Amino acid sequence: MLATALAEARTGLAEGGVPVGAALYGPDGTLLGRGRNLRVQDGDPSLHAETAAFRAAGRQRSYRGTTMVTTLSPCWYCSGLVRQFGISRVVIGEARTFSGGHDWLARHGVEIVLLDDAECVALMRDFVRDHPALWNEDIGAG
Ligand SMILES: [Zn+2]
Repeated sequence: MLATALAEARTGLAEGGVPVGAALYGPDGTLLGRGRNLRVQDGDPSLHAETAAFRAAGRQRSYRGTTMVTTLSPCWYCSGLVRQFGISRVVIGEARTFSGGHDWLARHGVEIVLLDDAECVALMRDFVRDHPALWNEDIGAG
């Protein structure tokens, strides 16, 4: 599952964007949608990876049992989306370079799986080092 999100993140990096990728899976493990942060590519500050994957999945009758996989701890905005629609589980590549709302989600009954994946850490660490202004813009810390 993380491989799909990581592939999206790497595509984003190659496009000159913020390298965060995500994928939404159904209760049976079917891929419903995948996406990446498109702030730079589309000029859309609301297109974070999790939101892009959520939108790519189209309308779903229910999000019970679904899993959002993301390369990076979800920001408050995407954490709100997870809670709003009742996504059951969030699998997170890493939360070392940025820690968003996953503890808050856990307190509200969302299952959180934190992988602490070295590849995800390296991807973000290099990006934040090379593009600090772009990263601060993305997380609203500018
Ligand atoms: Zn976000």
